[in-house]
Amino acid sequence: MNLANGLTRATGAAMKGNGMQILDSIQGVLFDIDGVLYVGKEVIPGAIETVALLRQRGLPLRFITNTTTESHQGLHSRLTALGFNVSAGEILSAVSAAIVALRRMKNPRCLFVVDDRVRGDFAEFTADEKFPDVVVVGDIGNRWSYDLLNELFGLVRKGAHLIALHKNRFWQTEKGLQMDIGAFVTGIEYATGKRATIMGKPSPAFFNIALHELGLAPHHVAIVGDDIDSDIGGGQDAGMRGILVQTGKYREDYARESAIKPDLLLPSVAELPRVLGF
Ligand SMILES: [Mg+2]
Repeated sequence: MNLANGLTRATGAAMKGNGMQILDSIQGVLFDIDGVLYVGKEVIPGAIETVALLRQRGLPLRFITNTTTESHQGLHSRLTALGFNVSAGEILSAVSAAIVALRRMKNPRCLFVVDDRVRGDFAEFTADEKFPDVVVVGDIGNRWSYDLLNELFGLVRKGAHLIALHKNRFWQTEKGLQMDIGAFVTGIEYATGKRATIMGKPSPAFFNIALHELGLAPHHVAIVGDDIDSDIGGGQDAGMRGILVQTGKYREDYARESAIKPDLLLPSVAELPRVLGF
């Protein structure tokens, strides 16, 4: 009790209630990856030990990410190389959710506006640059241009379905916060008057896949994330407990002004075992 209250006072952030009581019933954990377990090549201190300890205690875990600049295999290799004990099947990404959705659409013709590193994950689908049924948009770094946006505008206006791997506002890099693809997706939506289907966080469908895999009721699951919108807002909307960590893209002023209130605010993922009572 005292620890959670102390953390609340120390950070000065509003929360939904007493974190410790809420966490009593946690039986499984979703870890956001980027900004929670590592930033770039730097492991968040204590993150490897936290994952190991929760695993030791028998909690089912899943590792979720909106990152679309790395293949599924690449993500797994990176986590393993950094020292995390994670299996490839425990990683759920916006890309893997999109693959599930496209399979359900029964072989649509697709235009993939995605990073070369994840293009291979979509190899099973038919590519069609001129007359796609679906336009799939992910991170493409500095390849965004007026010409590209205008081309996508034309395709979506003519009836192609827009799938956005995510709609994040910004992300944390080793150089600081950088603009993410959310504004480009929003721009295409605005210009065409059509809505994109969002694959990753905070989409309820994405969290439901994770919950289904954990085999737990949402109120028994905590999501640990650095993104108050996608991780905490999305997780709480799905009925989970949202634990916001003050690493990665976390910014105090942004969190304070948000209408979303985390169930618990922690300096970093390293504090998680203690507040779970381990
Ligand atoms: Mg993150």
